[in-house]
Amino acid sequence: MTFQGIRPKSPHWTGLARKRLQNLRRRDFVSGAALIDGSWIASERRDVVIDPATGEEIADVARCGAADVSLAIAAAERAFPVWRELLPVQRGAILRSWASLMRDHSEELAILVTSEQGKPIAEARYEIAYGAGFLEWFAAEGERAYGETIPCHKPGSLVQVRMQPAGAAAAITPWNFPIAMITRKAGAALAAGCPMIVKPAPETPLSALAVARLAEEAGVPRGVFQVLVGNPIELSTPLLLDTRIRALSFTGSTQVGRLLLEGAADTVKKVSLELGGHAPFVIFDDVDLRKAVKGAMAAKFATSGQDCLAANRIYVQRGIYGAFVEAFAGAMAQLNIGHGLEPATDIGPMTKLSVANKCRNQIDDAVTKGARIVSANQGASLGPNFVLPTLLSEVNEDMLIAHEETFGPVAAVLPFDSEEEVIARANASEMGLAGYVYTDDLRRALRLSEQIECGMLAVNTASFTGPPIPFGGWKQSGLGREGSRHGLAEYMELKYVCFGDLAA
Ligand code: NAD
Repeated sequence: MTFQGIRPKSPHWTGLARKRLQNLRRRDFVSGAALIDGSWIASERRDVVIDPATGEEIADVARCGAADVSLAIAAAERAFPVWRELLPVQRGAILRSWASLMRDHSEELAILVTSEQGKPIAEARYEIAYGAGFLEWFAAEGERAYGETIPCHKPGSLVQVRMQPAGAAAAITPWNFPIAMITRKAGAALAAGCPMIVKPAPETPLSALAVARLAEEAGVPRGVFQVLVGNPIELSTPLLLDTRIRALSFTGSTQVGRLLLEGAADTVKKVSLELGGHAPFVIFDDVDLRKAVKGAMAAKFATSGQDCLAANRIYVQRGIYGAFVEAFAGAMAQLNIGHGLEPATDIGPMTKLSVANKCRNQIDDAVTKGARIVSANQGASLGPNFVLPTLLSEVNEDMLIAHEETFGPVAAVLPFDSEEEVIARANASEMGLAGYVYTDDLRRALRLSEQIECGMLAVNTASFTGPPIPFGGWKQSGLGREGSRHGLAEYMELKYVCFGDLAA
């Protein structure tokens, strides 16, 4: 099969990201200093930032250490009583102005995201709007952190339940959505009245630091939002051990999530985890094939496949299996693969070489075990971080790809016969983040919506995320929820108050 979109690696890519960063109006976005207690710290120790499309160094950033974490926690502790005492509407006004600055600087933020993360620039622009949306959502949601008054069970008494901020919070964020995964956490924490310390992924520090610049300009007080960049273990260990950090929010792999849950146990923090996915995408033979192909393309190839919502197991009912594979391969052939800063690009590089290698390993494993490969020649390399979109048909449960998350542009298509069978196969996973069902049969859609084991199920659509939805997973895909009113609750404690002896 020939991909129309593959062009040879262009000499034009060399220096492209660096040049775009040098031309930013906001040069301070690439200063690489960390924000601690209202000061920008340019440490002597530096880490480099890489353009994943070319492997070139494009910037360097401060490498914070344990002493910096200590300063940040003390600053958050000082800031907490002041921030907590603001009216929700005052906190909301600051969050809205932060969002508005993000929208004003959308193009520059998008260039930062694409330069260090690799995603197509159009997707980076979308991420800025998506990320700003969480700040706006929580600005309003903070005003609705209602408690309860409970009909009393004691004579002459009045009982209330209040929602109060939990205290300083920490966030450890991933590289696939380097801005939106920060604002989804910080919007909720700040709206609830909690200061937050963010440790972004080492691959994507520039996006996080630029968002911190805008937070400061929006009037977020010192110590309320801080960003520390550096070695994950060096920075996260003191955050985990400190009793002043009351809540921890993490997005990333299940493996690291488990470690952090264990690390937070000693100080019994409130923990919310958004971990890996392994989404089943189930297509019944009663559907309009074009709609199913369009949905599967969106669910598989957004963020170049590096998305926890990505369709990892595409189950297609046997009657339309052959037609689906052919139409899906045809749609894949239209994808443009290239540098994310080139406007026509649909699929960029994997952010990390380890993710690209995991994709290649899953392809090799599947082919060895009998899968049919429908894709361009993987040898036609654009660089080590590029994985060309690959369709694997005749996939079965003996293959790695049927069991572990891919996180890249490799589509596994598996045939099935009956509804009962596909429900059992979809649920035979320790992951339970998202699921997709395509069918024109309403009763069947309702049955599957009840029976698929996941936190988020999309029926006849691949587009469902956004600030109002409770984002999160079942089983080993996570704990707690982000976005929606449930997201706010991750940073709040319930307090039951009983007023007795009220009789005059
Ligand atoms: P990861 O879990 O290693 O990294 C996520 C975050 O955790 C980063 O900030 C990283 O610096 C930090 N981290 C890593 N090790 C740590 C440790 N020991 N202590 C404290 N913090 C630590 O993810 P990865 O290795 O970069 O990606 C691997 C897989 O993770 C992907 O293939 C995918 O399955 C999954 N992932 C999921 C999401 C998601 O959106 N749910 C995002 C990124 C990665």
